[in-house]
Amino acid sequence: MVDKIVILGSGESGVGAAILAQKQGMDVFVSDFGKIKQSYKDELTALNIPFEEGQHTEEIVLSATTVIKSPGIADKVAIIKKINEKNIPLISEIEFGYRFSKAKVIAITGTNGKTTTTSLTYHILEKAGLDVGLGGNIGTSFARQVANGDREYFVLEVSSFQLDNCITFKPFISILCNITEDHLDRYDYKFENYINSKFSITKNQDEQDYFIYSQDDEVTMQYLNKANPRVQKIPFSYHQKVSNGAYVENQEIILQLNKNNFTMPISELSLHGIHNSYNSMAAAISAKLVGVRNDKIRESLEDFKNLEHRLEFVATIRGVDFINDSKATNVNSTWYALESMTKPVVLIAGGVDKGNDYTLIKDLVNKRVKAIICLGKDNEKLHAAFASEVGYIVDTQSMEQAVQMAYNITDKGDVVLLSPCCASFDLFENYEDRGKQFKRNVLNL
Ligand code: ADP
Repeated sequence: MVDKIVILGSGESGVGAAILAQKQGMDVFVSDFGKIKQSYKDELTALNIPFEEGQHTEEIVLSATTVIKSPGIADKVAIIKKINEKNIPLISEIEFGYRFSKAKVIAITGTNGKTTTTSLTYHILEKAGLDVGLGGNIGTSFARQVANGDREYFVLEVSSFQLDNCITFKPFISILCNITEDHLDRYDYKFENYINSKFSITKNQDEQDYFIYSQDDEVTMQYLNKANPRVQKIPFSYHQKVSNGAYVENQEIILQLNKNNFTMPISELSLHGIHNSYNSMAAAISAKLVGVRNDKIRESLEDFKNLEHRLEFVATIRGVDFINDSKATNVNSTWYALESMTKPVVLIAGGVDKGNDYTLIKDLVNKRVKAIICLGKDNEKLHAAFASEVGYIVDTQSMEQAVQMAYNITDKGDVVLLSPCCASFDLFENYEDRGKQFKRNVLNL
């Protein structure tokens, strides 16, 4: 019997899965409750893959032998409930791609730092001449790449939503950057559920595989001690010496793995800030585990180009630096942004608050921030948290005005930092739109 695959959600991962399913000779149908981007419609049409938009036709969806679901669709949605009631296997695109790939997978998850660590790991492996693909939440979907031809290695960014629908997915190396509260709306407001989801990256790993994690992350450590997965565990730490892993001493990264050493001054890393030392250590460990030579790791950590919207330097205008950290959509990432600032900060923050606890950054705001420009529809919580910590706090709902207001109150030697702590959907399309508007307005000053 031919497998009948229904794909819910028609973004890059859905279309990639559809292409792979067709290539494997399966019956495919793509269903999207919203609108499908024209370029994807054209692609599906050209391949003769049937699809619908603006609805899920139950009769078709519930006749599937397997459903592949976009990570954007929550479990509480009616059609997902029905699929589960009928016990139809429900998987993610990552799981689906994995079933048809022989590659060794390096999978990266965590609350913050996934994209950076994934891109950095890929950069090192690629520069070392390995046959490697980059996928997951970044760029071309994993399934599409598998359809186009397998690789020896894949470096994949995987979100908790993708992990939730993995069954056999078994990375050779998994990296858990950190865990702080985020996305709890999708996890019944239970932090525990979110933690379980992140840790499920190790669920199929065994003694031949590796798990790279932060020994400084309390949540990770607590869970790890309790669950103790069978995988080989390799820690990294900024604050403590570790025996088989990576740590920082005298402003140098030190990597000791199976008696093999690698050291590099932090000042030579292309990515700055403590958070990026973590990301660099995690990426370097995984590179070492697949046999990349020290000189290649060093070169790649030195010449990696920072990603857009992540502590991205925009310009210096009359002695004032402007930094775009629009991707900081939770309090933890803004903590690291502020931590890495060496000049007085005018902070632009605000947006859609996912249940933020601002006490976590109160001290840092008090020490480093001279003014806050609140850029959101509802700024009440920011005022309540910080009015007593900074000399100046004002509201606006336009990026143009926010940039101008920030600039007006700066002195030479200050820095204007967009690091919102919040999602962007109240005033912007997404964080990219927010970051681009920031940059455009800065360059227009
Ligand atoms: P993700 O893909 O997990 O969202 P990114 O690499 O895109 O992570 O970074 C998101 C935000 O978090 C950026 O503002 C970035 O500066 C910050 N960040 C990056 N790495 C870390 C880390 N290890 N810990 C905390 N914050 C980080």
